[in-house]
Amino acid sequence: MTLPRLPVAPVRPARIEAFVFRCPISTPVRTSFGTMHDRPAVYVRVEDADGAVGWGEVWCNFPSCGAEHRARLVETVMAPLATSRAFASPMEAFDFLSARTAVLAIQSGEPGPMAQAIAGVDLALWDLCARRAGQPLWRYLGGTRDRVGVYASGINPDRPQDVVAARRAEGYAAFKLKIGFGRDRDLQNLAAVRGLLGADAPLMVDANQGWSLDEARAMAPALAEFGLGWLEEPLRADRPWSEWQQLARATGIPLAAGENVMGHDGFDAAMDSGTLAVLQPDLAKWGGISGCWPVIARARERGLRYCPHYLGGGLGLLASGHVLAAAGGDGILEIDANPNPLRTELMGPLAHLREGEASLGEAPGIGVAPDLRTLGAIAARGC
Ligand SMILES: [Mg+2]
Repeated sequence: MTLPRLPVAPVRPARIEAFVFRCPISTPVRTSFGTMHDRPAVYVRVEDADGAVGWGEVWCNFPSCGAEHRARLVETVMAPLATSRAFASPMEAFDFLSARTAVLAIQSGEPGPMAQAIAGVDLALWDLCARRAGQPLWRYLGGTRDRVGVYASGINPDRPQDVVAARRAEGYAAFKLKIGFGRDRDLQNLAAVRGLLGADAPLMVDANQGWSLDEARAMAPALAEFGLGWLEEPLRADRPWSEWQQLARATGIPLAAGENVMGHDGFDAAMDSGTLAVLQPDLAKWGGISGCWPVIARARERGLRYCPHYLGGGLGLLASGHVLAAAGGDGILEIDANPNPLRTELMGPLAHLREGEASLGEAPGIGVAPDLRTLGAIAARGC
């Protein structure tokens, strides 16, 4: 499977702004490494010299206090660079921003936040180009169908079967459960969810880097009983690939990772390890579309399943859906199952599911643009 080449469209950014939203939540989102007590989002608006506008999003989940910092990186580091010249394409802008901040990223010890700020600008530039062309992003990127399969994600370990039942009633057909909270609790939760869903529904698990190799090997046989679609980040993302290879040899469960991988070398090493069946780059965390598209192409050529990682606001979610639709294949889109108006107010057609799929439609770009004042008021009310 060969992906189409990204389109080449000149762009001259004239103004770049970043907006931080923070929504208090009554039910914290729990992972094996920490808890989210509110939901932040950083949205990026790019306007070109002719007044065309595009929207992107910067990954900012952890630590939550870092959202404002990432927005400042967009406005004080990336915006002056990106508005300093014209670019032959968003790819050229991505390469320019990456090259011009490479030493700064090392010196500041912040390659992650820098990459996330660049990713948000890149997403906005692609949205701008697609809107300017009057095409939905999925078609602008060369896609031929607007439908994507989705799954409900981020399901907490507290009575997960209740969340699964609620989301299934909304049209979800696939689900991913958080594990890594102790063997007994993990297996009880999986039994409850699998019992509710029956044997055939796609069910995945995410350990969020929670285990050592020995712990993962000890859990694998019990997990294998549940017919899992994949096991995500059983080991820390910085553990040697040799450990992932030992785990892969010990279990038949497909392994998934990618949300904590950065850079072309990082993704090539992940794919070269031969351990991953599912690759999960996060467009808003590293690469945007310009960086991730070649990674997705290489993943598809190697027969890996591309399933975008995403757990933020609606703008990055829509971009992820459009990229998945454009890339084709049998991957499914991660949609957070937890309450978050910063997602639900902006997710447009992804809120309307039929038999586990959504249609992205024909609206230009990612199809939705935020009303910042309304969004701010909704977010402030919390959920
Ligand atoms: Mg994950």
